[in-house]
Amino acid sequence: EAFIPKIIEVNYIEGSGDKRWSSKDFPWTKQLEVNNKKVFGNHSFRPNQREIINATMSGCDVFVLMPTGGGKSLTYQLPALICPGITLVISPLVSLIQDQIMHLLQANISAAYLSANMEWTEQQEIFRELNSEYCNYKLLYVTPEKIAKSDALLRNLESLHARELLARIVIDEAHCVSQWGHDFRPDYQGLGILKQKFPNTPVLALTATATASVKEDVVQALGLVNCIVFRQSFNRPNLRYSVLPKTKKCLEDVDKFIRENHFDECGIIYCLSRMDCEKVAEKLQEFGHKSAFYHGNMDPAQRAFVQKQWSKDEINIICATVAFGMGINKPDVRFVIHHSLPKSIEGYHQECGRAGRDGLRSSCILYYSYSDYIRVKHMISQGAIEQNSMTYGYSRSNMTNSGRILETNTENLLRMVSYCENDVDCRRLLQLAHFGEKFDSSTCQKTCDNCLKNTSFIEKDVTEIAKQLVELVKLTGQKVSSSHILEVYRGSLSQLVKKHRHDTLSFHGAGKRLAKGEASRVLHHLVVEDFLVEEVKKSDFYGSVSSILKVNDPKVHNLLLGGQRIILRFPSSIKASKLAKYEFTPAKGSLTSGKQNSHQIDTPAQPQTQVDMNLSAK
Ligand code: ADP
Ligand code: MG
Ligand code: ZN
Repeated sequence: EAFIPKIIEVNYIEGSGDKRWSSKDFPWTKQLEVNNKKVFGNHSFRPNQREIINATMSGCDVFVLMPTGGGKSLTYQLPALICPGITLVISPLVSLIQDQIMHLLQANISAAYLSANMEWTEQQEIFRELNSEYCNYKLLYVTPEKIAKSDALLRNLESLHARELLARIVIDEAHCVSQWGHDFRPDYQGLGILKQKFPNTPVLALTATATASVKEDVVQALGLVNCIVFRQSFNRPNLRYSVLPKTKKCLEDVDKFIRENHFDECGIIYCLSRMDCEKVAEKLQEFGHKSAFYHGNMDPAQRAFVQKQWSKDEINIICATVAFGMGINKPDVRFVIHHSLPKSIEGYHQECGRAGRDGLRSSCILYYSYSDYIRVKHMISQGAIEQNSMTYGYSRSNMTNSGRILETNTENLLRMVSYCENDVDCRRLLQLAHFGEKFDSSTCQKTCDNCLKNTSFIEKDVTEIAKQLVELVKLTGQKVSSSHILEVYRGSLSQLVKKHRHDTLSFHGAGKRLAKGEASRVLHHLVVEDFLVEEVKKSDFYGSVSSILKVNDPKVHNLLLGGQRIILRFPSSIKASKLAKYEFTPAKGSLTSGKQNSHQIDTPAQPQTQVDMNLSAK
């Protein structure tokens, strides 16, 4: 019998651009506008907000794709306020829920939440209110676990529904439904039960990340009917992106960059640790900038003071951990500089997104060194990184998930490394691909460092180099660092290398003929692709971190057997003679030789002023 694949019918309708939803003639239009101003204090609606609200209030199922910070909460909080009955909101993290409830109560909107680790008596009280004749709550937040595990909750929802008091069901961070998403939550898959039980109650699913397959997963799992999809691009055309090598003179580079491009303008410098924030702020003051630091170790009054000074332009540079950002709506931030490697591409995109809200040109500069990867990885494993409560998949209180979360965090970090090491592809394309959005890099218009380079590239088969490096890691007993491996491979004669020389004789200096940045590119690629694993070993008294490279056996096995080729792209300025030994094929596009490009990640020397100036916001 022939196998007939099941045809999956996905019913959704493109909502963006449909004029129907932007009409100002809905019966509730006046009420919307008044409450948006009076209760939420907004002057107007952001893109798609009005449209989404009109669609969900018309009773349709709606799927919303909107970047973080785009204003998704309003699209259900405002309807909740003006519709009779109660809105059920499913949200993955208690910390996010608490944050929301706080804001709602401040705006005098009655809201409550139920979570599994709440006292039973407290839960009883909420259930009592839900059962009262005129339930006071406008919004009830629950974690997905609660829906899956609490019969009491389901019974209460049924009772609300029977009394026509269940106005709407909201699934926040809806990508958690999908295994393809970066933050799969099994309990989200059980949420389909809601549509089964309450088929006529409109569902509003919200997310900031969804590829096409995630979207279809979500629509299927939730059982959404004729769902209307609103999506908007995550591209920010007025931001210019570049990644620069982080040298010992990083702060001099930062000073020079700001002086030449944004002097006396407003900006944020994101730093890894609290100590970094203070050091960077101090150094920039010495250089004559009006800077201050901001981090989680300061008392709230201190933090509020710094933030106020910054809002009023009394200081213009704030050196902060990612804790700085929530609720920051300063429109004229002209630059966001990352002094260290961000933890994830989502985080990076979100942090950069704080620049140029007024639509004017702004710069996003990331200073990258591979050694920061080791440092961040270590801090993640120690739980020592300050978090912004919007960070997905992170919950300090949820210990059962900590292993999985650590894994996700490490993976996110590796993607970030890969982004930084990529000196070929359009930065916008790389970022947007992460959000499942296709981007035509010709529309970048040379507003990122890679598009600006104008160098041609060659594709090179580096499988042999990769194999040698892997063998070398094995021969050194998986006890040494990546920089040690590179030294041996390049044939260094330092004392440290000599000590191991007898073990590694066959590979000592095997990579002598390669261009300098090349071996490290390959090695870092092996880490990013999970052939090799950086194991953070220890942190000494002064907080420095060392790491050792280990082999991921199952993956490496296939590589060593020759079952897999590794192809990397290099700027064609790496001298052809050095490549001669290996096969390579020219990349698509012209091979006209561009300017000499000595972009080498681990051998940073000159700050790339050329790039800086071209990216300036003038
Ligand atoms: P998301 O959930 O999409 O990440 P939020 O709903 O948390 O975003 O909103 C981000 C910020 O934008 C909040 O500080 C919110 O008050 C603000 N905001 C939302 N809508 C508007 C609006 N129409 N005008 C001004 N600010 C808004
Ligand atoms: Mg949100
Ligand atoms: Zn580009």
